[in-house]
Amino acid sequence: MPDYDVIVIGAGCGGLSAAALLAKQGRRVLVLEQSNRIGGCCSTFERDGYQFDVGASIVEVIRPIERVFEKLGTRFQDEVDLIPCDPIMSIIARDGRRITYPLSIEGTAEVIRQISPQEVAGWYAFVEYMSELMDVALDTFFIMPCNSMGDLLEMAKKNPRLLKFAPAFVSSYQNLVQRFFKHERILETLGYQSLYIGYPPALVPGVYAMIPYSEHRGIFYPRGGMVQIPEALRRCGAAYGMETRLNALVQQVMVSNGRVQGVRLADGSELTAPVVVSNINAKTLYLKLIGQEHLPAIVAEGVKSYRYSKAVPMIYLGLDYSPPLDSHHSLIGVTPEGVNRYWWDHVERGRLMEENIGLICWPTHSDPSLAPDGHHVLNLIPEGFYHLTGTDWDQEKPGFVERTLDYLSRFAVPGLKDHVQTVACETPLDFERHLLLPEGAIYCLQQDLTAMAMFRPAARSKAVQGLYLTGSSTHPGGGVPTTIASGYITAGLIERHEG
Ligand SMILES: Cc1cc2nc3c(=O)[nH]c(=O)nc-3n(C[C@H](O)[C@H](O)[C@H](O)COP(=O)(O)OP(=O)(O)OC[C@H]3O[C@@H](n4cnc5c(N)ncnc54)[C@H](O)[C@@H]3O)c2cc1C
Repeated sequence: MPDYDVIVIGAGCGGLSAAALLAKQGRRVLVLEQSNRIGGCCSTFERDGYQFDVGASIVEVIRPIERVFEKLGTRFQDEVDLIPCDPIMSIIARDGRRITYPLSIEGTAEVIRQISPQEVAGWYAFVEYMSELMDVALDTFFIMPCNSMGDLLEMAKKNPRLLKFAPAFVSSYQNLVQRFFKHERILETLGYQSLYIGYPPALVPGVYAMIPYSEHRGIFYPRGGMVQIPEALRRCGAAYGMETRLNALVQQVMVSNGRVQGVRLADGSELTAPVVVSNINAKTLYLKLIGQEHLPAIVAEGVKSYRYSKAVPMIYLGLDYSPPLDSHHSLIGVTPEGVNRYWWDHVERGRLMEENIGLICWPTHSDPSLAPDGHHVLNLIPEGFYHLTGTDWDQEKPGFVERTLDYLSRFAVPGLKDHVQTVACETPLDFERHLLLPEGAIYCLQQDLTAMAMFRPAARSKAVQGLYLTGSSTHPGGGVPTTIASGYITAGLIERHEG
């Protein structure tokens, strides 16, 4: 008898979502996590009395997460205390001017009217288009497997309105946004979000232009930090017998006659199971943990052809003042064209910006309990990438932190650098070392049209029987709700195919 029915490699959101649902199905499930905490990119750590989020800073589009908790016999809102963020975003221009968008559609229309009355009609048309697209995506893309063209047709059969949005998949983020908006200052509030997907607006598929709209359906911060989401999944899974082991690095997936047998850990021990679910980077899984000798040549070449997704550095600050910001999230304003230029001039050439663009997350705006009384936490996500020309992140880190604090103090967060009590930074190289994200790739693999849906590694492996994928490497890709949705899809596939 095997040691477990299912072994899950990695306790990220995707791994824990799949594991908890599989335990609910009555299976004996073990989750193995190499680090000393759960959650992966969606986790929280303590330093000098401040609680910092490792990566993810908010959650939006929560319907797929609600669905998982419903399946676990509970409610997301009962398991995690979700604090609504309103306003949803403040956009800070280089001259210090700010545009702050409230949650409400009408309130946002009013902000737009103040800037350019002609754009208000565009805003309402954008909302109408994106709202329908999002409803269709939630009904299909976020809950259904997409391992083949047949699966895509199943989605279209379930919700024929998907076909209406086919052009949005093949057009670009930039085209879609510029169809609705013309004014430079409004465009400055809509350019950066394409980088949430990992590419500039010219290269991101148009469907993702849904993001600036989706935030108006609600942005939430879990009281106690982002780790509360994976923690709730772990707790619900444990109620059905799911086990989680920390500091358990999986070094090999054992395969015999084309079928998984279990895993070998770094300490040399072996655990057997007829089903293995991988929550780690699919390239690492197939090329290192399984090995090319167990793969058809075409599969090995296919896996190698994926590029790694975007990487970012994070700077974690404990402050002894309340930063003069307007919102949980602020970003440096940049037009779609400006983001494209950043991509060609900096990312493609491996040259960091002197005055960067990026996101400023202020979690204590929502949850003051994350810092000592009167103190605050700021998590900065300046743009960055793994390959730096002529240098590396270990050399660049101190100067990068210094420069970031300097220019943000000048125009975006006055006084910032005089109020820092604690500072830490994780570069893409650190993420590679600590979370085993190759090249610091936060979404594992590229997220353009060539690696979406059935072009992303399949949730049910076509090369190795009993092997399943969950998390960013598989459909529907990176992000907290999407990886939790992938766990739902994977658990459904296992229920259907593994008895
Ligand atoms: C800086 C940053 C900001 C982000 N902001 C947001 C945001 O605001 N909102 C949002 O929705 N998303 C955001 N994301 C994306 C989101 O956090 C991730 O897409 C999601 O959490 C990834 O989940 P996952 O299931 O793919 O696994 P991961 O989080 O990648 O976890 C995988 C786990 O596997 C473990 N592991 C790896 N190799 C092994 C091994 N060999 N053996 C055992 N364990 C192993 C790792 O330690 C890790 O814990 C952000 C990500 C980052 C990095």
